[in-house]
Amino acid sequence: MKRVSILGATGSIGQSTIDLIGRDPAAYDLVALTGGRNIAQLASDARRLRADIAVTAHEDLLPELRGALAGSATEAAAGPAALVEAAHRPADWVMSAIVGVAGLAPGLAALQQGATLALANKESLVAAGQLLLRTARAHGARILPVDSEHSAIFQALVGEDASAVTRVVITASGGAFRDWPLARLAQATVAEASSHPNWDMGQRITIDSASMFNKALEVIEAHEFFGFAPDQIEVLLHPQSLVHALVGFCDGALMAHVGPPDMRHAIGYALNWPHRRPLPVPALDLAAAGVLEFRAPDETRYPALRLAREVMGEGGLAGAIFNAAKERALDHFIAGHLRFTDMSAVVDEVLSDLAATSDARNDAPTLDLVAHMDHLARHRADMATETRKL
Ligand code: NDP
Repeated sequence: MKRVSILGATGSIGQSTIDLIGRDPAAYDLVALTGGRNIAQLASDARRLRADIAVTAHEDLLPELRGALAGSATEAAAGPAALVEAAHRPADWVMSAIVGVAGLAPGLAALQQGATLALANKESLVAAGQLLLRTARAHGARILPVDSEHSAIFQALVGEDASAVTRVVITASGGAFRDWPLARLAQATVAEASSHPNWDMGQRITIDSASMFNKALEVIEAHEFFGFAPDQIEVLLHPQSLVHALVGFCDGALMAHVGPPDMRHAIGYALNWPHRRPLPVPALDLAAAGVLEFRAPDETRYPALRLAREVMGEGGLAGAIFNAAKERALDHFIAGHLRFTDMSAVVDEVLSDLAATSDARNDAPTLDLVAHMDHLARHRADMATETRKL
């Protein structure tokens, strides 16, 4: 039996993971399930899957979780320290699907106990890629990518000589505003930004897809995880979201990974790795799909892509600054304080202010230093929002 924990179990990725595991319950021993505010979902999944422990990130919700788990064999706990403790419990495979940098400390704890970490939480890799990779190496643990583009690259590299790779192409749907006139973007509402043309995901990543901050995170993620140089990583708009990534080799071959936009493929690949097993993902009918389009993204529409290159050029803690400023700018957009188009202006300003400081120039940061920089960048993003506040 594979011992499994799911961090962020109540979210979109967490629920898709549970869907896969729930189809073959005899194969898995559930150690920990964690969530945030959705206590009903957390408790019902913990009961059904007989998890050892269920943890909410919010201490004030502990009585509600205890009540919902009364009479079951599942222990209840709450708060950031309890999340880390749960992630540290021995498990063979841990899904990292908390949204935002809040996933970093639990992800590190899972690596410290030697688990295979299936990493959907790209923010932790952007904020502290070297720290995660170093921790995995030190504890004989492994990180498997779950982001569909990175899973695609990972699969295209199987059996290949990494030194023969010359380029990777990460595709992007272009999000909700791909075809909007540029002049209209400043008026985009939260509801409009929260609707994705192809993928069904959590609200934050859906808005990040509309701004392409999500793609910017993915470019940095590819740089950190696979070690590709910034000029080897390209982004192409691909409205159909069927080709997830392409890997180019020195002989001119481009290996494409093609599949329906269903995260259960990438999750299932990481769950079954190094084997392939049947997954409940619809077969792709390419004849019905018809034309597959590709075009270069317009950086006036998507300034986040330029910022990603700046982050990779700066190195050190620039990723932590970028991610924190982006998370805060997104909070302010969702709260109605910032225009959609001002999110990138805020992140640009914070990055310019902080990325060149001596604290940020550290290529082997500790978790404390990442947290310190994250805190500074959030504060600075609040100040940058004040001057643009609606
Ligand atoms: P969701 O918003 O759907 O779910 C997020 C999960 O994290 C929920 O379980 C939520 O709990 C929990 N959570 C929220 N805030 C905190 C916190 N402060 N501390 C601990 N837990 C918290 O997000 P997604 O599933 O869409 O995304 C999860 C991660 O996967 C993100 O990093 C995203 O970028 C990445 N990803 C997602 C994809 C997708 O298709 N959705 C594709 C590729 C990557 P609750 O809901 O109970 O409040």
